[in-house]
Amino acid sequence: MAKGSPRGGGGGADRPRLLVAAPDGGVFEHDRLELALDTGLDVVRVAPKDVIPIPADWALMAMPGTRPIGYDPSSGRFETVSSFVDDEGQAFSPSAVAVHPPPGYVRAFHPAAEYQDATHPDLKLRRLAEEEAQRKKGTLPILDGGDEAARPGLPLWAYTAVGMTAGGPVAGLFLADETSRWAPALFYRADLDAQIEARLASDPDNRVLQQLARCGREYLCCCAQNVFYERWEGAVPIAPACTAACLGCLSKEPAWETPVPQKRLGFQPTPEEIARVMAHHLERAPEPMVSFGQGCEGEPTMNGPVIVEAIRQTRARTQRGVINLNTNGSRPETIRQCARAGCGALRVSINTFDRALWEAYYRPSDFSFDDVVRALYVGRDEGMHVSINLLIWPGWTDRTREIDAISKIVEDGALQMIQLRNLCVDPGHFRTMLPPREQRGLLLGIKGFVSELRRRHPSLRFGTFNPRLAAEWYREVPAFAGRL
Ligand code: SF4
Ligand code: SF4
Repeated sequence: MAKGSPRGGGGGADRPRLLVAAPDGGVFEHDRLELALDTGLDVVRVAPKDVIPIPADWALMAMPGTRPIGYDPSSGRFETVSSFVDDEGQAFSPSAVAVHPPPGYVRAFHPAAEYQDATHPDLKLRRLAEEEAQRKKGTLPILDGGDEAARPGLPLWAYTAVGMTAGGPVAGLFLADETSRWAPALFYRADLDAQIEARLASDPDNRVLQQLARCGREYLCCCAQNVFYERWEGAVPIAPACTAACLGCLSKEPAWETPVPQKRLGFQPTPEEIARVMAHHLERAPEPMVSFGQGCEGEPTMNGPVIVEAIRQTRARTQRGVINLNTNGSRPETIRQCARAGCGALRVSINTFDRALWEAYYRPSDFSFDDVVRALYVGRDEGMHVSINLLIWPGWTDRTREIDAISKIVEDGALQMIQLRNLCVDPGHFRTMLPPREQRGLLLGIKGFVSELRRRHPSLRFGTFNPRLAAEWYREVPAFAGRL
């Protein structure tokens, strides 16, 4: 049985120690095993270049339904930890520990773990709903299963390897953008409520503003807060529904009441409501940008006439600033109309350029992979700044085939920037959806993926946030502002 002490000691080891979690969420450092990393295909021993120090106050997460894997330097073997005794002599079956990278950081390694449950989240939820219905009818006994029985899969986070050194925690991630505009000190300020109230009073019937007030206060959304602070990039949520049903959707509210971090707006705003919010922001903000589809609404191009008319009305009031459209690419012709009405920047979300895996993840209703690729070329033809929001997964994104597919689009002039986003899904299930090793080809690692694309296309931009296109100096900013 393994032993250890509460996190924080580091043990003076050269390499980071493995962390394990108790059922009550307590995190302990293993006294013998090193942190091991999961590349997405293999479990490997950690090397110093693979991890960076992270602040001690970043929250660590237990991963219920997993067992941690560490590396034993004395035997040269990887070991699954199935039982653990803490420094007070309490024995328990531990879970793996992970950290979720904050915006600006990109996961390079998964936590090394054995997943005990790889059931498709939808299937599990359906079973739970059926059981619940039977229980209500009295045909199934009430189970005392605790959280584990009710768990629909791991929540939607980017589970990233984390270990402990004498100097503090380290994690398998890297900085991929410049984060000064997103420092917490710039948001959640004491004057936020007053700003929100004043703005609502100036346009009291505007339901978009009312939604933004909820987003800024309850969901702590930075882009919603920017609307009330009248600066930089402001979000404009307009879409209550979507053309896809992604496995990792943050805003979808399934019938079975799975908790989601943000709730989609529950109505379709009018073009007038939308345009009033956009024009007000673009007329006043420094570095003005307004963004549709900023993360946790539905698909903004789903109701084409509304978005196009909203852009037209906004541009009738002001030509200032950038209108940015974040989309899943399902409606290329609506994107064209948006561009012609005055929308200058396009970001298309995509998890891979492999058609089969794209379909398995996006579960599109009435569009295809070809539409998504065509959306990029429409953006190019209409003179938009074109980015992709690439939902990365170590062990898949870093295939040379993925790099070749992206290179072709860059060479065609249909892609200026890659925004690297961590794919947030239940890793236990998602890894079972991926093709086997022999079908993946050569893997370069996520840092290698970025390096190789930079080598091939020196002017291709990388980051994790929307580019500051409205800043006069934007073109002089280095194509990559992170640290590999
Ligand atoms: S495209 Fe976006 S809004 Fe639609 S299901 Fe996928 S993640 Fe959710
Ligand atoms: S990104 Fe989400 S939380 Fe922020 S404004 Fe849009 S819908 Fe609201």
